[in-house]
Amino acid sequence: MIPIALPLLSEEEAEAARAIVLSGWVSQGPQVVAFERDFAALVGAPYACAVSSCTTALHLALAALEIGPGDEVITASHSFIATANCIRYCGATPVFVDIDPATYNIDPNRVAEAITPRTRAVIAVHQMGMPCDLAALAALADRHNIVLIEDAACAAGSQIWMNGDWERIGKPRGKIACFSFHPRKVITTGEGGMLTTADPELDRKFRLMRQHGMSVPDTVRHGSSQVIFEDYLVVGFNYRMTDIQAAVGRKQLERLAQLVSQRRTIAARYGELLGNFEGLRLPAEPGWAKSNWQSYCVRLPGRVDQRAVMQSLLDQGIATRRGIMCAHREAPYANEKPRHDLHQSELAQDNSILLPIYAQMSEQDQERVADALTRELQACVVYS
Ligand SMILES: *Cc1c(COP(=O)(O)O)cnc(C)c1O
Repeated sequence: MIPIALPLLSEEEAEAARAIVLSGWVSQGPQVVAFERDFAALVGAPYACAVSSCTTALHLALAALEIGPGDEVITASHSFIATANCIRYCGATPVFVDIDPATYNIDPNRVAEAITPRTRAVIAVHQMGMPCDLAALAALADRHNIVLIEDAACAAGSQIWMNGDWERIGKPRGKIACFSFHPRKVITTGEGGMLTTADPELDRKFRLMRQHGMSVPDTVRHGSSQVIFEDYLVVGFNYRMTDIQAAVGRKQLERLAQLVSQRRTIAARYGELLGNFEGLRLPAEPGWAKSNWQSYCVRLPGRVDQRAVMQSLLDQGIATRRGIMCAHREAPYANEKPRHDLHQSELAQDNSILLPIYAQMSEQDQERVADALTRELQACVVYS
């Protein structure tokens, strides 16, 4: 069986976790502090705050900005549902706009059209690890005095050409960037997330709100020779990462550059194997973007039955996934007519499939995937 994804975890991660289990401090503590420091340094962010997932990171981002009922947040429907859900958590209104079909990322022109006096923020997704057009989106956000939040769940290790250099996603360009360390992403802590920002006040709020609004973290009380009474300053959450996860995350961070480089090689090889197939559209990077290829999404020729192709590949031991979902088609959102046209988002969901990609994937397995897919498509074209 060729899986859709496979995390690269080894003895090093197991050893790091073991050491923390035996250390006597397993909840948020010194390993989380070190992981935050390592992550901030790696992406070039002044502040990084670790949390339990990217979903909780996105919720904290909006909560710290005090976004709530009556506020609108513009985002892509064509994303994992957590992107939209975090807006609802705050009682705000998600306003979905369409994507650019070439990159599957939010279209800055559509964002511009969707801005109203109620718009407080834009959540721009770096979908499948492909950087979205941050230069255009940041300029737009500045011009309209709205906040740009990056859903960088998939984008650890992705790069963008900015200020005359390749820079990692997470270096603040928007106000806040949120990352995921779920096993489907490029590096993992089992579950986990991170917020980066250049704003010290926001970072302070994230830290307060991830830990019940507690004025003095338990690590400080634990280490103090004085008795300290804590206060609870706001209604916070328990969105903490554990030290076990953070220790694993630090090992994963050491691998990040290597993992991304391997994935880029695999993506290039898919390009060679599939590039000549008539009607199949492969993902392409804009000149200013270097994807970490968290997912490799191909667009099927028009008449091909997506489900049938996926089933046939599965029967041959190859796992695929359909194109990224559209939140506006799911029950929590489906009873509201979308304000804006989402045609490209729906086409992308219905006509694309994600192929297996992971750093350890062998050339033979890639050839198996490419052979099976092209054989299937040839059959579809012949019989349709
Ligand atoms: C995976 C993902 C999330 C959610 O991340 P979790 O860490 O699982 O909460 C949010 N947004 C996007 C775009 C994702 O791909």
